[in-house]
Amino acid sequence: MFTLIKNAEIYAPEFLGEKSVLLCNETIVWIGEGFTAERTLPDLKIIDASGMYLIPGFVDGHVHIIGGGGEGGAATRTPELYLSDMIRGGVTTVIGVIGTDDVTRSMGSLIAKANGLVAEGVSAWAMIGSYQLPVKTLCGGIREDIAMIDRIIGVGEIAISDHRSSQPTFEEFMRIASEARVGGMLSDKGGIVNIHLGDGKSGIDYLFRAAETEIPVSQFMPTHMNRNPDLFGEARRYARIGGYIDLTTSTTPLFLEEGEVKCSKALRILIDDGIPVSRISFSSDGQGSMPMFDSAGNFTKLTIGHVTSNYAEFVDSVKNEGISMEDVARVTSTTTADHYKLPKKGHIKEYFDADILVLDKELNISYVFARGKMMMEKGKVLAKGTFE
Ligand SMILES: [Zn+2]
Repeated sequence: MFTLIKNAEIYAPEFLGEKSVLLCNETIVWIGEGFTAERTLPDLKIIDASGMYLIPGFVDGHVHIIGGGGEGGAATRTPELYLSDMIRGGVTTVIGVIGTDDVTRSMGSLIAKANGLVAEGVSAWAMIGSYQLPVKTLCGGIREDIAMIDRIIGVGEIAISDHRSSQPTFEEFMRIASEARVGGMLSDKGGIVNIHLGDGKSGIDYLFRAAETEIPVSQFMPTHMNRNPDLFGEARRYARIGGYIDLTTSTTPLFLEEGEVKCSKALRILIDDGIPVSRISFSSDGQGSMPMFDSAGNFTKLTIGHVTSNYAEFVDSVKNEGISMEDVARVTSTTTADHYKLPKKGHIKEYFDADILVLDKELNISYVFARGKMMMEKGKVLAKGTFE
């Protein structure tokens, strides 16, 4: 089965100019100009993408694919991710996390959901662990789980600076990082530790301390770094010493009013600080709960994150902040794929997976391909999950 996407302006994420891309089954097999074999390929589907942009499908590194939350009781447990939401938001790869509730949600269901998404046509991995330490492992240890289970790509999200965190000591925190690092080495994965940052006063002190140890700063992927102005200020300092910064795109008008730094604006500031986009990523926190607490720590209300929020911030970054398509494509796709070492992801490149977005000049998503399969056509979502 061959598909030819013709004459698109390609950001791979690097700018390649106007070229055509040939897909065979799940794979990009050719990128170039003047394709001449149109008549010789059986059942070749041709899409004219003249005047359109072609970029890698979004890689969303932090999604509660089996739901999350429950901070306001059982009725506030959030639901599972739907395939069609991913496609609508241009997300072709997700990394699933558990979050606060590791009591009623398990690694078994997280891995099963990731497997289910793969069966439905997209790509998915999962992180071992939850907010809490000790991490509940499957094969006896974090090293073992990362090294031996294909679907497990790292550990997290481990919560620090949050009243919902298990308040790990620094030594416990570093032990996790060392185990993830070695597990990653043994399996050619990033072995990344995904760190949930809350609003706590200690901020990212642990990460600054970790930067003084033998573990490289690149072992950590701290997320929610834009959640308040103080934390974002620390994020800017941390980025200057070489740290990775993950910005959470799901938000609410109230959060923004209370000082959360909008992702597109945060990206502009980090780029102006001289931070390379190869160390900045967007993730959605999709299906995660976004609970609100009063100053005494009492739960007040809760909303839900959406995987489509990456796309909204992609558009605002390009249109409102004037950031180049190449830079934003890295932030929405390539940084996460490279950092976690997701095989054949995050680049428009021969022999890589055919995870592709085609956007019109207004940046509306026209086509989504996930592992070579057309999931959206002319703005219409074709793919639905098993029970949608
Ligand atoms: Zn979180």
